Amino acid sequence: MSGVYKAEYIWMDGAEPTQKLRSKTKIVPLGHEPPLWGFDGSSTNQAEGHASDCVLKPVFQCHDPVRGAPNKLILCEVMNIDMTPHRTNTRAKLVEVAKQYTGHEMWFGIEQEYTFFDGIKPLGWPDNGFPAPQFGYYCGVGADEVFGRDIVEEHLDKCIDAGLKIAGINAEVMPAQWEFQIGPMGPVEASDHLWMARFLLYRVAEDYGVSATLNPKPVKGDWNGAGAHCNFSSKQMRESIDVCIAAAKALGERHELHIENYGDGIEERLTGKHETCSYRQYKYGVSDRGASVRIPWQVAQDGKGYIEDRRPCANVDPYVVCRLITETVCSRIPG
Ligand code: ADP
Ligand code: MN
Ligand code: MN
Ligand code: MN
Repeated sequence: MSGVYKAEYIWMDGAEPTQKLRSKTKIVPLGHEPPLWGFDGSSTNQAEGHASDCVLKPVFQCHDPVRGAPNKLILCEVMNIDMTPHRTNTRAKLVEVAKQYTGHEMWFGIEQEYTFFDGIKPLGWPDNGFPAPQFGYYCGVGADEVFGRDIVEEHLDKCIDAGLKIAGINAEVMPAQWEFQIGPMGPVEASDHLWMARFLLYRVAEDYGVSATLNPKPVKGDWNGAGAHCNFSSKQMRESIDVCIAAAKALGERHELHIENYGDGIEERLTGKHETCSYRQYKYGVSDRGASVRIPWQVAQDGKGYIEDRRPCANVDPYVVCRLITETVCSRIPG
């Protein structure tokens, strides 16, 4: 069949406590925009069986690097049939808040950590017992340090091919754990690109028979958790360290609210060990990876830049993180 393309509609489901991605394919005539579409919300915890229809509204699209041209990936917001945002539609809430504070020109850069699993154990781990203790794995090289690099490389290539603003990748502290970074760009854009990059991660790993997971503490004990550090700046922060410090102080005023929304399982990850600050405490500091919020060394040096909120977990919804940071910070610093 020619004269058509495959549009992969992608949306966030109603899974609790952590929403996941779903997708399905629509064939669309070439030259046409992907239209509104529907799905069975009773199968995704988004509707009851007797009134099961939910609406998919395309909001962001890019080239589909898996199927190739002319096919596309279509990120959607979930709407009710009266076209109001569905209760699980966290993007619509972020769009509202972002609109209120456009004058601040907020930029976000998110570091997505994740862990590859082969069945019930992390990829490359022995069937019994554990690999050597953490040390050589972070940014490691060699078959004894690194597991899953071919998947990671293919994911990076696909993100670039799709036109996503991916900033870099690295192997993490726990073996089979990796990271990619998205941004910096506006709150809605950064979150859209992160959700698309997550979709591609799951999709690419699927072809290797490996599952990529965002569990914030995939292995109990003396092993690093997985986070989604959220770096951000306003126009004024990019001009003055004083405003960066004001932003760090502002985040401290709503610490509990942020912790409650920074990913299920956060208490297990933010223990005060493994480069984290306890979830019970809020502190910020220059170069301090044991703080809730880090002011990078380079930023202190330059006297301007951005700060890093280290609290969000790998499984966090970026629409929620970017909304909370925008609300908390922009209402308390000069715009
Ligand atoms: P880390 O040293 O914490 O591992 P990374 O290099 O992994 O840092 O990630 C840094 C992130 O900060 C990137 O996602 C990048 O896009 C983001 N970033 C850089 N400059 C800014 C800025 N001015 N505002 C917001 N985010 C920024
Ligand atoms: Mn990083
Ligand atoms: Mn990291
Ligand atoms: Mn970081």
